[in-house]
Amino acid sequence: MTVGAHVPTRGSLMGAIDSAHACGAAAAQIWGSNPRAWAHPNVPEASVKAFRSAWAAASIGPLFLHAPYMVNIASPNDGFRQRSVDLARATVELAEGSGAAGIVVHAGAAGAGTARATGLRRAAGSLLAIAGEADRTIVLVELTAGTAGAVASTLPEARELLDAAEGEERIRLCIDTCHLFAAGYPLDEPDGVAASFAELRSTGLEERLGLVHANDSAFPRGQRRDGHTHIGAGHIGEAGFAAILAQPPVRGVPVVCETPGRLEDAARNIETLRRLADGSRRRPVRRTTAC
Ligand SMILES: [Zn+2]
Repeated sequence: MTVGAHVPTRGSLMGAIDSAHACGAAAAQIWGSNPRAWAHPNVPEASVKAFRSAWAAASIGPLFLHAPYMVNIASPNDGFRQRSVDLARATVELAEGSGAAGIVVHAGAAGAGTARATGLRRAAGSLLAIAGEADRTIVLVELTAGTAGAVASTLPEARELLDAAEGEERIRLCIDTCHLFAAGYPLDEPDGVAASFAELRSTGLEERLGLVHANDSAFPRGQRRDGHTHIGAGHIGEAGFAAILAQPPVRGVPVVCETPGRLEDAARNIETLRRLADGSRRRPVRRTTAC
């Protein structure tokens, strides 16, 4: 299995290589720019090129860029939505140049009082505009935790969103175990995991899955609260992850954890995911964050 983590770059793309090596990642996700700002990625072309060669030479595995938190592809505010699309397109441009496999963007929130169909149409339009920038990379739309106005936090909603953005095969699905659990999917029980993945199949999304974010949940199931914690330390638990990691669609795509703490914690989470994927058990650590 291809298991990795969201890793820090420490101010330069090259930092991602050291970070990925340090935690034993076989796939990595990084921010392409400041996650809490509107600033576009700002890396000189020569540095992007040098990074591309260095990343390929390091033979780590696939790399993904996560678009900043600011991005809301379904925003009811036209200006805000346009800024979101522009920032995500700039992230795609960096992905293209740096050799990343794809970018991750959240499905977005439609805003209070907006009909879901309207939010869905806006999100789909944004996704098409973002993917239009891509030549080689994929655009992964990540299902959210089901907070107010969420455009897509369930699999049928994801189906609707992908249908609304029809014709663009570069748009793929990213599921986050913590978000699905927050939205009510019973990923803490083997039977619930089986039912959830049966739904992935029945909605025709299995072949559109491109990435899995493996995060345990600091909050109980169905609370629509996004709090990532270490694998096995939250409400999904080791039994849940063992069942998730046994699912064929999960085994066919990169699995990346976005857990709190330092690189040592990421290393431990990667190790735990690999161990659970192989079918044995051990003790977790505690702490929480959101992403
Ligand atoms: Zn995530």
